[in-house]
Amino acid sequence: MDDQASSAQDDRLREDIGAMLAGGLETEVWPRAETSQMVNEIVARLQKDAQDDLTRKLVIAGFTDYTVEADDLEQPCETCMYYLMHRRFCALPELMLPVEPQWSCRLWRI
Ligand code: SF4
Repeated sequence: MDDQASSAQDDRLREDIGAMLAGGLETEVWPRAETSQMVNEIVARLQKDAQDDLTRKLVIAGFTDYTVEADDLEQPCETCMYYLMHRRFCALPELMLPVEPQWSCRLWRI
């Protein structure tokens, strides 16, 4: 697939995800993954229960279409180590999803 096709596909999926979140999909926003043990548990659930299921990924990772603040820290995708700025994309291997910079999930990391 060329870059243009891949970018159009990302755009469509980003819109679909945005619509799901705006439509009230309830995700596991809390607790945030504050320890490596919690990160490991959530990642293990993504591997076991979500795999390629988009809704399960969003629910388990605790996606929001707004920035969540935890422990006095804003946690938007745009400051997360997994965020690819030029592609507006989350490169966490268990997620691999197009996102918006102001979105957030509980696996946020700097
Ligand atoms: S891991 Fe980071 S870039 Fe990916 S959705 Fe969560 S906050 Fe956004």
